[in-house]
Amino acid sequence: MMKNGYNPALLRLELLAQGIKVDPEFNQQLGTGLKEPLWTRTGPTSTGIDLMLEKGMYCSPAIEGERFPYHYKNSPFLLGVDDSGQGVIKKNGETIQKVKPFPRPSFYGKKTSSGNLMEKIGVVTGDFLAIAIDNRCWFWGYYREDELINYKERQCKFCGIGLSMKRDELYRKSKEDILEVVGAAVEGGDAKHIGINAGTMSPPGRGHEEYAEIVSAIKDRYDVWIRLSICPPEKEKYIDTLYDAGADQIGYDIEVYDPRKYEYICPGKLHEVDRDVPHQHFFRMLEYAAKRGGPNKAYSILVTGLESRETTVQGIEELCKRGVVPRMGIFRPIPGTHLEKHPTPNPGYLVYIYRKLRELTMKYGVDSGCSGCGRTFVGTKEYDGVNPIMPEITDEDLEIAKVDINQPDASEIS
Ligand code: SF4
Repeated sequence: MMKNGYNPALLRLELLAQGIKVDPEFNQQLGTGLKEPLWTRTGPTSTGIDLMLEKGMYCSPAIEGERFPYHYKNSPFLLGVDDSGQGVIKKNGETIQKVKPFPRPSFYGKKTSSGNLMEKIGVVTGDFLAIAIDNRCWFWGYYREDELINYKERQCKFCGIGLSMKRDELYRKSKEDILEVVGAAVEGGDAKHIGINAGTMSPPGRGHEEYAEIVSAIKDRYDVWIRLSICPPEKEKYIDTLYDAGADQIGYDIEVYDPRKYEYICPGKLHEVDRDVPHQHFFRMLEYAAKRGGPNKAYSILVTGLESRETTVQGIEELCKRGVVPRMGIFRPIPGTHLEKHPTPNPGYLVYIYRKLRELTMKYGVDSGCSGCGRTFVGTKEYDGVNPIMPEITDEDLEIAKVDINQPDASEIS
């Protein structure tokens, strides 16, 4: 018997906070054709099972199990099947939502002309193809020849990019391989748009020229929307290069707004990009990118769950004021990182941030990110497209779900 009226916008926040268990019956009946979760470049929000909730909302919760030895064990959610073989989510044993899993992309298992497995070049996440063009990061000691004695002191504490080097992943992906995989994903109907990222590269361009070459090559062949995640360059002229190449959206991620916590969590970004003044260089480049690109062409990720509610909301507003799309990631502890045992944020905290994000993006007329790209983020929509309006989560929804918005949250770094 299905419980009626469970708001999927709320359910996705609960799932992202608490993860999900998978009923063996689900794997038996629906597992063979499913898209398996693959490690991407192990940012804070990778590695989940992609699901479509009711009203077309994407969600990619962590699966309780060996990938997350310290978290998600007490998840009340179970991914199962009903009597008709349809995927459903149960909460504490009660069916609350129909769910649609994603089929395995048609190009997985195929190889590029150079012999690389296509899913090692790009993975489908939500509704887009994610390509990490390089798995090395300046703050993990790569590219640099200076005397950085202990590079571990510069890494972002939630990030596991360097760990991907141990998993047989390619350091740098070739343009030819990337183009083949983009072609396979777009023509096979597996992805609606492309997301490109990498670790931080060397100054002064921080990878803008390399990204521009790839963007331009993709745009020459395919009519596809491209979003980039990259470190701010030293000078504005590099941003022009990316837009001139055809980039549709550029992201410089500030990760944490509270200056003291930013110093602790992202020491490399603070000392080497912001030159010891929290966010000054990030904001300068974001402002330029937002003005040069036009509305909703620049974004920045803040990781929800590492600082207080108040400073998180201040960060959202500072981005909105600058015309920058705030993309609110949700902290997910990657094993092997500094924060692998750090608690995840609770659902009530995420609902608080969700409501503020909704309010502020509407107030400033800034987009809140698309539903597919937001599968592991706070914001969502019931449709595709650029628009600030997120569905409401009402007090009645909270009552149905028994979620307490005032529940104290243990995830803030002290
Ligand atoms: S800049 Fe930080 S988050 Fe980005 S890849 Fe490097 S260490 Fe990871």
